[in-house]
Amino acid sequence: MNVRYAENRVTQQELAERHAHAGGDHRGCYRRVCGVCGKVFYAGLPRASLCSERCNQIAILRRRHERQRRARQRRCPRCGIVFVAKRNDGVYCSNACRQAMHRRRVTAGGP
Ligand SMILES: [Zn+2]
Ligand SMILES: [Zn+2]
Repeated sequence: MNVRYAENRVTQQELAERHAHAGGDHRGCYRRVCGVCGKVFYAGLPRASLCSERCNQIAILRRRHERQRRARQRRCPRCGIVFVAKRNDGVYCSNACRQAMHRRRVTAGGP
């Protein structure tokens, strides 16, 4: 598993002390700002970007939500507007466009 939050084995207190002693340029004491809650924390890994497992979970949920939102983003075939469909099978930006296209299809497909 990718550990991207502060290590649990070393306490924040210890990391902060290490950081103070080394002047911010020491392995195992990287000063970071949490990407979720904005808290300043000390991490044992340079790529750590989240302060805790809790914030890590929140970040995962946010990414998933963002992915789902983008997956439903599409362009309305009638008016060309880019919109986020409320349903997975939503094709048109609005009922007006859906009905207009439906009417047009019915008219065009007539005998
Ligand atoms: Zn956080
Ligand atoms: Zn439309």
